[in-house]
Amino acid sequence: MHSPTSQTIVVGSGLAGLTTTLQLISHNHKVTLIEKTSKLGGNSIKASSGINGVPTIYQNNDDTVEVFKDDTLKSGKGLCNLALVDELTSRSRDAIEWLTQDLKIDLSSVTQLGGHSFARTHKGAGKLPPGFAIVSTLVKRIEQIQESNPDILTILKSSRLSKILSENGKVNGVQYQNEITNDLKDEHGENVVLATGGFSADTQNLDTSLLKQYRPDLLQFPSSNGEQTTGDGQKVALRDVDAHLIQMDQIQVHPTGFIKLDNVESHWKFLCGELMRGIGGILLSPAGKRFVNELTTRDVVTDAVIKNCQVKQENEMSLPVGTYVSVLVVSGDDYPKAANHIDFYASQGLLQKGTVEDLLKLLQKINPENEKLNVGSLQQVLDDYGNDVKTKQDPLGRSVFGGAISSQFYFGLTTPVLHFAMGGIEVDSNARAINAQGKVIPNLYAVGEVSAGVHGANRLGGSSLLECVVFGKIVSQQILNS
Ligand SMILES: Cc1cc2nc3c(=O)[nH]c(=O)nc-3n(C[C@H](O)[C@H](O)[C@H](O)COP(=O)(O)OP(=O)(O)OC[C@H]3O[C@@H](n4cnc5c(N)ncnc54)[C@H](O)[C@@H]3O)c2cc1C
Repeated sequence: MHSPTSQTIVVGSGLAGLTTTLQLISHNHKVTLIEKTSKLGGNSIKASSGINGVPTIYQNNDDTVEVFKDDTLKSGKGLCNLALVDELTSRSRDAIEWLTQDLKIDLSSVTQLGGHSFARTHKGAGKLPPGFAIVSTLVKRIEQIQESNPDILTILKSSRLSKILSENGKVNGVQYQNEITNDLKDEHGENVVLATGGFSADTQNLDTSLLKQYRPDLLQFPSSNGEQTTGDGQKVALRDVDAHLIQMDQIQVHPTGFIKLDNVESHWKFLCGELMRGIGGILLSPAGKRFVNELTTRDVVTDAVIKNCQVKQENEMSLPVGTYVSVLVVSGDDYPKAANHIDFYASQGLLQKGTVEDLLKLLQKINPENEKLNVGSLQQVLDDYGNDVKTKQDPLGRSVFGGAISSQFYFGLTTPVLHFAMGGIEVDSNARAINAQGKVIPNLYAVGEVSAGVHGANRLGGSSLLECVVFGKIVSQQILNS
């Protein structure tokens, strides 16, 4: 038997891995953190809309844990694991308090996203996007602890998990490959925590692609994820320790990834955060019409985009025929609610500021043969929506509004993108990995997007960052108590 050279090995440095690492080393528990890329942060650092929490001092409404739980179960359409949802929702306030009070991260601005009954998605009031603010603070805190106690943590970057090691049925380490030298090394530890994320970018190697295996119909869509998001944890755990992969066909296609006008065919899209619809943004089809309650759940909005927004003919923008395009329009009145996001998107050429005439020009480029589209008809669509805003009555069912779309507004092209894997490694409510026989795999945990069960058929916006914090804390507690 090998004597452990570190107590716990955490694989993956997104929010799930960083929360686990910080919690463990704060309690003087030794960790080796293994990360495939040269940078820490994973997809978590890209998160732009925020993190859910209920009830918090930043909310100004009657939200409760029960309502949050009901919204999560409704969105999950009968596929959620109730015990996991209980943990997620009942510990959500603690997660926000840990981030804001212990780690001093500003999360004081609260928005209502699709499928939520109340505003409960938290981000900072200043410039920093929430994913970056949270991840960079955790990294800083981890580095501070490491500085004062260098032996407590080893960080191995550019190191890819290639194997889970076990002896007598118990996990006791991992093998990893250095991405630069290709050297393989073993690292032994008492516990292994997989925090390797999802597989919404697993489209490049079709021989091993989980997307091809479980959802070949989705290979046509671009992705909002970083290229590293290839389901390594799921694949290795299935092969080496017979982990039970569940709900692998449940992939969230987010309705709005930005289309960059100078690179419309790129597979990698910048996400147009749901926040943009949360503050009041509406979606128009290429025919210049609203077609969905923009604040219903993501799966419903995406289905509506697919039904109403297909590009039907060759066009000046070189948008491929058969792909799907909707136009996000955000009122100038709503600009202050997300000024930093809008300024950033505008600086990247993803949003432009203009008038109804400018919007018409863009729509005519997508849909050149639509003769019904003119300034008058388009203005009527915007005026009708303005009336909905005034009366708070929307024929499409929207009940939360921003401002009316008046003379100057922001708009940009969007398309559905592969965004989040609800499926993954089955876990119990202590984040212990389960095998195909339904038994706990001793000493193996799975946290964050690599795990499955909490979101069911459709994740609510803001609940993924929350999952990482809640279950990262649970797993650390479990390890510290064992
Ligand atoms: C653009 C974008 C915006 C989003 N916005 C929000 C939001 O506002 N709110 C919200 O709740 N959720 C949001 N999400 C979802 C959320 O960010 C992720 O689902 C969540 O951060 C996943 O965290 P994680 O720690 O499980 O995985 P990740 O953050 O993806 O981290 C996984 C890490 O594991 C590493 N890794 C993978 N394979 C290996 C291997 N073989 N060996 C070693 N390391 C490996 C990866 O390189 C990566 O660093 C967004 C996602 C995207 C893509």
